[in-house]
Amino acid sequence: MKKDRITKPARVIPAANMVSYEDTRAVFTWEAARDQMSGLPNGGLNIAFEAIDRHVAAGHGDQVAMRWIAKSGARTDFTYREMHVATNRFANVLRSRGIERGDKVYSLLGRVPELYIAALGTLKAGAVFCPLFSAFGPEPIHARMEIGGANAVITSSRLYRRKLQGLRERLPALREVFLTDGQEDGTLSLAPLMNAAADEFKTVPTQAEDPALLHFTSGTTGKPKGVVHVHGAVVAHHVTGQLALDLKPGDVYWCTADPGWVTGTSYGIVAPLTNRTTMIVDEAEFDVARWYDTLQREAVNVWYTAPTGIRMLMKAGAGVVQGYDLSAVRFMASVGEPLNPEAVTWSHQTFGMPFHDNWWPTETGGIMIANFASMDVKPGSMGKPLPGIEAGIVEITENGVRDLTDPDAVGELALRPGWPSMMRGYLHEQARYDKCFRDGWYLSGDLAMRDADGYFWFVGRSNDLIKSAGHLIGPFEVESALMEHAAVAEAGVIGIPDETAGELVKAYVALKPGHAPTDDLRLDLMGHARKRLGPAVAPKDIAFRENLPKTRSGKIMRRLLKARELGLPEGDISTLESDEK
Ligand code: ATP
Ligand code: MG
Repeated sequence: MKKDRITKPARVIPAANMVSYEDTRAVFTWEAARDQMSGLPNGGLNIAFEAIDRHVAAGHGDQVAMRWIAKSGARTDFTYREMHVATNRFANVLRSRGIERGDKVYSLLGRVPELYIAALGTLKAGAVFCPLFSAFGPEPIHARMEIGGANAVITSSRLYRRKLQGLRERLPALREVFLTDGQEDGTLSLAPLMNAAADEFKTVPTQAEDPALLHFTSGTTGKPKGVVHVHGAVVAHHVTGQLALDLKPGDVYWCTADPGWVTGTSYGIVAPLTNRTTMIVDEAEFDVARWYDTLQREAVNVWYTAPTGIRMLMKAGAGVVQGYDLSAVRFMASVGEPLNPEAVTWSHQTFGMPFHDNWWPTETGGIMIANFASMDVKPGSMGKPLPGIEAGIVEITENGVRDLTDPDAVGELALRPGWPSMMRGYLHEQARYDKCFRDGWYLSGDLAMRDADGYFWFVGRSNDLIKSAGHLIGPFEVESALMEHAAVAEAGVIGIPDETAGELVKAYVALKPGHAPTDDLRLDLMGHARKRLGPAVAPKDIAFRENLPKTRSGKIMRRLLKARELGLPEGDISTLESDEK
């Protein structure tokens, strides 16, 4: 693992919100963080009020809250005041149809304005919001709506006809279907209801512990879990936006994630608005030219994306960036998967600043470990725990959980619960939830290590770890070494059973344009990996693929590579996006 540091951006940027990590960490308390929220006028805490209404009350109603870029490229702005009114109207619509506090409101929409308005309006109404990826097929939609007990859903007529209509009989709790366009039998057309609704709505006096959001995990390791988050989570969304993403009021901010994935809600709706930024929402999917064009045209200051997108930009080459003026960009961050050191150094060379990797799962509701703006970046490291977060590397023994304090010891990445955005449960899976906690730790299921400087390094998911001839090998290390090769766009590494070695390392590789999947290249890659990793860790076999199987949130599904390699059942593939077949 490379441990060189990036100490300075190549160009001058304004001071970060957090000037000194150590000083902030020394004084930080969640109680003090809570004071940054205004709270509801008559007591209580509500995410939507903190995101929208308080800014309007403070005189910022004319600031653009959301700039929506339609697939066509057309732009529509929504000020904080307009969002205030639209979300009030949506809350009134829900109330008029008998949707009450604690009811579950789902969305099945692309990234259109109605999705964002529905999310915040639902929260104002005291109901629980659950966003689904619009690309899900009917069965994954049914499973998630059934598990969560959906009472209402907002969707488009096209999606309704193609995916939802046939499920209604099997969803007895589903009372209302709102369509953003047109009307079908048994549904309501949203537009006239919104037009008729009053502009004012008194936000339901939710308390910090009231459920607010329901998210399904990515399904990378198995069947997705339904994770419940509460209104109090807003404190963590806000503060992590400030400290880990360096959001400042007035910034133009772009999170590329879809709200169907927790990142697209915590950091694609809540944190940008509580921090009073202007958030960019792009309806379209990834496209190299469109992304650079958006960064330039919108003069984006802070950009939050994921390794899969970054690797696609790398695949297109640094040359493409030359034609764009990206000087407004001040901070770039990545989440969701390990960010290969190669990607960090590439971004530093290409953009004059590195991508700042941060780590967190759906369960924690917000960023837990991060490379902060004011801190040196060590390419390949996830950074340090957020102020207010205690992270450890632990070993789970029969006698309990042992804290491994030696530098570079590999163990399970664990956190001391106590931050406000921690999940409050896995829906209908109490035993699974209970298993996450032991001896005062939340066990993440990820393996990592901490170096002598306190930086955390991702090793792999515990069930992806490869045991080969007495060595424990994390796939990330092997994938990162392969990524250093000029021909490699993406790599996924698994262990396959072997009688003598236990397991053998096998790599699946997707190539950059201009490289052919030849035997010579395979040998060259194996040689490169052996040189970088040594013969014990380097892959014994490399297979070329056009694409690697990924979740909709962009994570490589190693369990699927393995199941296919071994001819085993594929398991739950409801979140599978691109496919190698
Ligand atoms: P499931 O729990 O259903 O298998 P999932 O764990 O992929 O899916 P998410 O909650 O979306 O679902 O993802 C969290 C996981 O993503 C983390 O546990 C970790 O394995 C991985 N991850 C997130 N950020 C990073 C990062 N910066 N570096 C390495 N891994 C990361
Ligand atoms: Mg997980």
